[in-house]
Amino acid sequence: MQQITVISGKGGTGKTTFTAAFSSLARNAVFADCDVDAANLYLVLRPGNYREEVFPGAQKAVIDYDKCTNCGICQDVCRFDAIGWKKGRIEISEFACDGCELCMHVCPFGAITMEQSRDSKWFIGNTRFGPMVHAKLGIAEDLSGKLVTVVREEAKKLAEKESRQQIIIDGPPGIGCPVIASVTGTDKVVAITEPSQSGLHDLKRVTQMVGHFDLVPYVVINKFDINMSMTREIENYCHHYGLPVIGEVPFDRSMVEAMVEQKSVIEYVPSSKISKLLTNIWISIND
Ligand code: SF4
Ligand code: SF4
Repeated sequence: MQQITVISGKGGTGKTTFTAAFSSLARNAVFADCDVDAANLYLVLRPGNYREEVFPGAQKAVIDYDKCTNCGICQDVCRFDAIGWKKGRIEISEFACDGCELCMHVCPFGAITMEQSRDSKWFIGNTRFGPMVHAKLGIAEDLSGKLVTVVREEAKKLAEKESRQQIIIDGPPGIGCPVIASVTGTDKVVAITEPSQSGLHDLKRVTQMVGHFDLVPYVVINKFDINMSMTREIENYCHHYGLPVIGEVPFDRSMVEAMVEQKSVIEYVPSSKISKLLTNIWISIND
C-alpha cells in the first residue's frame, strides 16, 4: 500500500483543490484529511459519515461552585493567567488553561477538578470515490499532531481491511508538528507552491523538513503564469536541488468554481485543459 501526502508551505496555495482532483482520479484509494485545524477536503468529497469518535483532548481545570468560596488562592498560583474574576466570581478560561493542575492542588476546598476535553472528533465516511477519514480539532485544543496520527492510523486500518492500494493524504499547511505527523512514514510527498517569494521560501522549508524523512518532494507550481520571473526562480531552485517539477498549472477560475460547487476540477470541467494537466500530474506521481 502506498501513501501519498499533499502539502504546501502555507495555506491558500490550492493544496486541497489538487488533493480533491487526485482523489477523483485515484482508483481503489482511501482519503485522509489531516488538516485537522481547518479541514476542508470533506467539503468537496462530502462523505456520508458512518462512524464518529471522540478524540480525548487536553485536560482543563473546572471549578465546582458549590464548593468554591472565591478565596482567590488559585488565581495567585496560575502562571498562565487563566484564572480571573468575572461577574463577581472566580472563573477559569478554558482557552488559557494549560492543564498544569497546580490550582487543583492548592485549592483548600477541593473545588477544582481536571476534566478532559471531548470537543475534538474524528470521522469515517464513504465518498463517491472511496472511504475517507477526517477530523475536527476542538477550539483551543493543541494536540493536532496526535489527532493527525489517529486519522492516519484509521485510514491505514481501512485500507488494509478493504484491500485499498493507496492512501491520499491532504496535509496541513506549514512545517509544524501536524505536518510532520502527516509526512512520517509516507511514500511520496507532493508540494504545491505558487510563484512568490513566500512560495519559494516555504518550498525551501518544506524540502528541508521532508528531507529528514529521506523524501524528495514532487513539486507543482500553481498559478505559474501570474509571476513568470518567480516561476523561473522556483524552477532553478528545484533544478539545483534535484526536485522534480511535475506540473506547472496556470491560473484558472474553474479551480475556485469547482470548490464552490463542492466538486473536484476533474468532475467540474472534465474535458478541459486544466483537467488534462491535473491528470498528467497524477500520472507523474504514480510513475
Ligand atoms: S482556590 Fe478553590 S475556593 Fe479558592 S477561589 Fe480558587 S477554586 Fe475557589
Ligand atoms: S490547571 Fe494550571 S493553567 Fe489551568 S487554571 Fe489551573 S493553574 Fe492555571
